[in-house]
Amino acid sequence: MKGKEFVSTRNPCKLCAPLGASIAFRGIEGCIPLVHGSQGCSTYIRRYGISHFREPIDIASSNFTESSAIFGGGENLKNAIANVSKQYEPKAIGIASTCLSETMGENIPMYLSQYEASRKGESGGPAIFYASTPSYSGTHMDGFHQAVFAAVKAFAGKPDENGENVQAACDDQPPADARKKINILSGFVSTEDLREIRDIVESFGADCILVPDYSESLDGSSWETYQKLPEGGTKIADIRNMNRAAGTISFDVSAREDRRAGLWLEKEFGVPCAPLYLPVGIEQTDKFFDELSRISGNPVPEKWTKTRGRLIDAYIDGHKYCSGKRAIVYGEEDFVLALSAFLDEIGITPVVAATGAKNPQFAHCLAAASPNSREAPVVADDSDFETVLSIAQDMKADLIIGNSKGYHLARNLKLPLVRAGFPVHDRMGGQRILHLGYRGTLSLFDSVCNALMQAKQESAESGWTYI
Ligand code: SF4
Repeated sequence: MKGKEFVSTRNPCKLCAPLGASIAFRGIEGCIPLVHGSQGCSTYIRRYGISHFREPIDIASSNFTESSAIFGGGENLKNAIANVSKQYEPKAIGIASTCLSETMGENIPMYLSQYEASRKGESGGPAIFYASTPSYSGTHMDGFHQAVFAAVKAFAGKPDENGENVQAACDDQPPADARKKINILSGFVSTEDLREIRDIVESFGADCILVPDYSESLDGSSWETYQKLPEGGTKIADIRNMNRAAGTISFDVSAREDRRAGLWLEKEFGVPCAPLYLPVGIEQTDKFFDELSRISGNPVPEKWTKTRGRLIDAYIDGHKYCSGKRAIVYGEEDFVLALSAFLDEIGITPVVAATGAKNPQFAHCLAAASPNSREAPVVADDSDFETVLSIAQDMKADLIIGNSKGYHLARNLKLPLVRAGFPVHDRMGGQRILHLGYRGTLSLFDSVCNALMQAKQESAESGWTYI
């Protein structure tokens, strides 16, 4: 990547870590996120969540003031837990730290022990678990993975030496006769993707423990009266059962090893974990289906064979629009890797692959994901949109794929933007974009072809009515 022309970061190609954690917490049944820091942090998270999911999203805050920034926020946190417990009656509270509380060195585990000690003798109350999510050292994806890991460790982990860990604090217990299930750690995908994953796994005759699952809690039906805690989310009893599942499939190849709950379940409980790229494109989706077939012991259902066939037919029909084209891709690492593999597969060279994450694995994973490309993409990690723009000027790209934060990039470069990933807040239906599996790939392929066709129509003086 070229040297940065700006000293400061301008419009970073990432979002904040507690945001990712909060979305993951909302994917656990009856769980409310509590951000330990200022009101501004939780407002920022609410604003992004609401504009993408178009649902009210309550994010509690420990509400730091100037004095808590100086003297510590322990009392704020304990008061916040007590208030949230009373007002929402949640099954669980997921706590995420912020830049401020991390910079101050807040000892959150100690505050939680003190809170538990103050409740000695009282029964009930939510299970409380915590993810350390300083945004200055990570992205929203780091926060997301941290939160998933914290939930799995809290509920599926072994009880602590006192037998008093978070497992005991919640009524949800795994049914004694629970049959073997398949754990899926989906990563930060759309609500439609979550529904598709569940549908695919269950079509193999297997039960799916999907973590997190915000497909209902952040994209449910309309309500007659306001619900403080919307229905939906992965049941805590199911998370408890993850340690005796038949296997785990995790879409988190680029995440740091110490944030990967699937690898931890394998190490601690011997549940085999298969880390895969997000299933976008035929090759990556085939790998997902092969793995499901292996774990479930059942063949690929015929309906998917037919869907795959339709996708291949679409590739043949649309190849003339894609072949030889060049694309700029940006977003979170696993998403960029998956899209690059898909573009490579349909004859489009990903010429710039950008992410806001600092990830030494990224370039290596990218090379493996796009083996057919005629030229290696310029890898822009730890990047902002100013940098992406300066790189992209000379790239002769035809297309951009990424979230709504790249709108000005596309406008400056006068290139079509195919919206995908998170956040998509300048179009309707961002939360329902289907990216994964054969059906998601088909939908993305149509969007890419149509964007290229529209650009051709608009750039030709006489236009095209028949392409
Ligand atoms: S201060 Fe840190 S935690 Fe708060 S919104 Fe900004 S980046 Fe996120």
